[in-house]
Amino acid sequence: MSAARLPLVAGNWKCHKTVVEALALATEVKHGAGALRGVEIAVAPPFTALQAVGKRLEGSAVVLASQDCHWEDAGAFTAAVSAPMLRELGCRYAIVGHSERRHVFRETDDEVRKKLRAALRGDLRPILCIGETLDERDGGRTLERLAAQLEAALSGLGAADAANVVVAYEPVWAIGTGRNATPAQAQEAHAHVREVARALLGGVADGLRILYGGSVKPDNAAELLGQRDVDGALVGGASLEAKSFLAIARAAAGRG
Ligand code: PEP
Repeated sequence: MSAARLPLVAGNWKCHKTVVEALALATEVKHGAGALRGVEIAVAPPFTALQAVGKRLEGSAVVLASQDCHWEDAGAFTAAVSAPMLRELGCRYAIVGHSERRHVFRETDDEVRKKLRAALRGDLRPILCIGETLDERDGGRTLERLAAQLEAALSGLGAADAANVVVAYEPVWAIGTGRNATPAQAQEAHAHVREVARALLGGVADGLRILYGGSVKPDNAAELLGQRDVDGALVGGASLEAKSFLAIARAAAGRG
């Protein structure tokens, strides 16, 4: 990875952890992260734990992220949580378009585009998730699917906004399955993402951080993170234990 792109390791806690459990995990991450240089660390607890975890992380280098954000700032959208609400709680990043949102909750490319813009409007850095299904990979359509998702989300974005975007390449078949992309598959996808981003956004693409996500574990992290265009990781399962999450963060720190 380029020295100019500070690696980011973000933990997506999904629908796990009560407030009490989230506080215990956040405390361990905070303490373990204190000694790490050369990597940015973020955690994305469930909405219910954001406020408590945000307070617990105060004074540390670990930053708060949300797992989603609504596309409107306010209104009659029962159960939705908006960017200004998340920013007020101290969030710096918002994951948008996670595969589970797209596939379980049927979110469309257009909704993801609106969420990304809402995050930017609300001073949150979007972590835009994209990725192909197994059918698409087996059918040789991986690169075209990634390009379509990027174009839908990023086209028309100005340079200042684009500089605040992070992309996470997460092959759907690798999320929560224990089957990670090979380092070569990840590098091929990441290089393509950067090329498409360059066509859409211009030179800003050189500084774009592209995270890999999909069954990242301590034992495969160094190899994945060692790829030229892999600028960090979005971590699900392995972020639920401080020890494994911090081991991944250490692997990223060693690659700067
Ligand atoms: C994720 O939820 O974004 C993810 C990559 O999950 P896992 O690490 O469990 O595959």
